[in-house]
Amino acid sequence: IATSRVDKLLSSMGYGSRKEMARMGKAGGINLDGADLLDVTQRIAVSPDLPTRMQIDGEALDPVAGLVILLNKPLGMTCSHKEDGALVYDILPHRWRQRDPAISTIGRLDKQTSGLLLLTDDGDLLHRVISPKRHVKKTYRAKLARPMHGREADLFASGQLMLEGDDKPLTPAELQVLSDSEALLSVTEGRYHQVRRMFAAAGNHVEDLHRERLGGLSLPQDMAPGQWALLSAAEIASIF
Ligand code: URA
Repeated sequence: IATSRVDKLLSSMGYGSRKEMARMGKAGGINLDGADLLDVTQRIAVSPDLPTRMQIDGEALDPVAGLVILLNKPLGMTCSHKEDGALVYDILPHRWRQRDPAISTIGRLDKQTSGLLLLTDDGDLLHRVISPKRHVKKTYRAKLARPMHGREADLFASGQLMLEGDDKPLTPAELQVLSDSEALLSVTEGRYHQVRRMFAAAGNHVEDLHRERLGGLSLPQDMAPGQWALLSAAEIASIF
C-alpha cells in the first residue's frame, strides 16, 4: 500500500487545491481516526479502509483509487468527457470530475441505450474488460421495429456476418428470442453500434436497447435508471 501526503491525496480526489486542503486542515475540517488532522503535509498509508477512518467536513472520505462503479445508464446521456449535453459523469458527485487518475466508462453505450455501465479509475482493469482477447460477454435486450424472420440466430452465430464498413466478420453471437420482436443478444466484441448494426444487417431495426449483463455481473432489478453503486472486490472479480 502506497503512502501519500494528505494534501496531495485529497487534491487528487477532487476535494480542492493543496492550498485549500491546508486551510481546511487548519480549520479542523479533516478528521483521521477520531482526531483533527491539522498538518496536511504529513504522509498516510492510502489503504482501502481509509474512508472508514477519515472524514472531510464530517462526511466519510470518498473511495480511494481503484474504484469500480456500476451505473444503470439512463437514456439520453452520453458516455463522453467532452460532448455537449448530459453526460453520464454528471450523475456522479461533482468533485469526482477532478479526480486523478480520472474516472472513465469501461467501453461505451450509445446515447439512446440504457442499462449496465461500468466506470473506473483503474486503467488496467478497463483494458482487461474491453480487450477483445478476453471475450467478456455482454447481453443486451433489444426491442425491434418488426417481427424477426427466424434466421437471425443462425446469422449471428455463424461467425461470418460482415457489417458494412468493417474489415472482418463478427465473432459468433448468441440470440435468445423472447417474442417475435424482442430478444436477448450476447456479444463478446464491442464494435461501434454493434447490436443495432447486427439487426440492421438482418433487415430489422432496434427501437429500444438495454444492457442487462456484463461478464458475471447483472444489473440489479431494483436499480432505477440513474442509480449507481460501488462494486466489491468479489463483484469486480466476477466480471471475468
Ligand atoms: N450495441 C449498440 O448498438 N449500441 C450500444 O450502445 C451497445 C451495443
